[in-house]
Amino acid sequence: APRLFDPLRRFAEKFTMLQAGFTAIERISDVLNEPIEIRDAVDSKGQLTESSAQSGEIRFEQVWFAYKGDEYVLKNLDFTIRPGEKVALVGPTGAGKSSIIRLLCRLYEPTKGRILVDGIDIRDLPQSELRRHIGVILQDGFLFAGDVKSNISLGERYSLEQIQKAAQSTNVASFIEDLPQGYDTQLRERGTNLSSGQKQLLAFARVAIREPKILVLDEATANLDVGTEVLIQSALDQLLEERTAIIIAHRLSTIRNVDRILVLKRGELIESGSHEELLTQNGLYASLYNLQALGEGR
Ligand code: ADP
Repeated sequence: APRLFDPLRRFAEKFTMLQAGFTAIERISDVLNEPIEIRDAVDSKGQLTESSAQSGEIRFEQVWFAYKGDEYVLKNLDFTIRPGEKVALVGPTGAGKSSIIRLLCRLYEPTKGRILVDGIDIRDLPQSELRRHIGVILQDGFLFAGDVKSNISLGERYSLEQIQKAAQSTNVASFIEDLPQGYDTQLRERGTNLSSGQKQLLAFARVAIREPKILVLDEATANLDVGTEVLIQSALDQLLEERTAIIIAHRLSTIRNVDRILVLKRGELIESGSHEELLTQNGLYASLYNLQALGEGR
């Protein structure tokens, strides 16, 4: 049904679109308020190798960024995330976490400095290439009125077998098979006939099928229902395996096991280290963590 995808297609043509969910665009780019168009450079022929086990490296080189004028919201960010490394971004609201993600997905470009993925300046990559490489998972996996299949494939040419494989790898296959028409079951707009956990698993399947080397998670484990919590955690663990991940964390208790935590304050990277290291440093991370632990009654 071409009609089904028309609005989505138009959206895709008009705006820089992430591969993994349309809310990503709305929330991460605020694109409806300020449409931005970033064009591929005429000679953007860069290509990321799919096969290399070493791929998935992210490097910010002295990145400065202002939405307007010289009001810098990111200041001289300089860090490298190794292939396969799991990194959490932490900091008060407005510290610049989402802006980092927007730049990485090239919804905006750095005012100064550059961002490299696998050693290639992302400005030299076709956007389709970058999008294939980065999967984005948000709190609310966006679902549209349409069948389960197309909610996973987003209208791209994947075989039913590939769709089923993605669903299996993210623990959502048996749930789908129990639906009245299985993969052909119609979902309501925004998935109002599903639990939040089921929506989350479907969003995982949508990302898994594209096999991106880099994952961006916006607090993916925030609103779990008890029934699917274990399923979600194990699906997430599998999704994260052998992938680079950047996790925007709000509840600090969820990120204790990441390899490294980057702590931001007013656009500056002020602390970096493991959970234990940062607690020992007794800086901003430690005080945010202790404050939350207090609030959560631990
Ligand atoms: P965080 O994700 O850590 O809460 P953001 O990256 O969203 O922080 O915001 C960093 C700063 O940039 C804040 O001061 C915010 O007000 C500002 N900001 C965010 N989005 C925009 C925008 N679209 N236009 C102008 N300023 C913005």
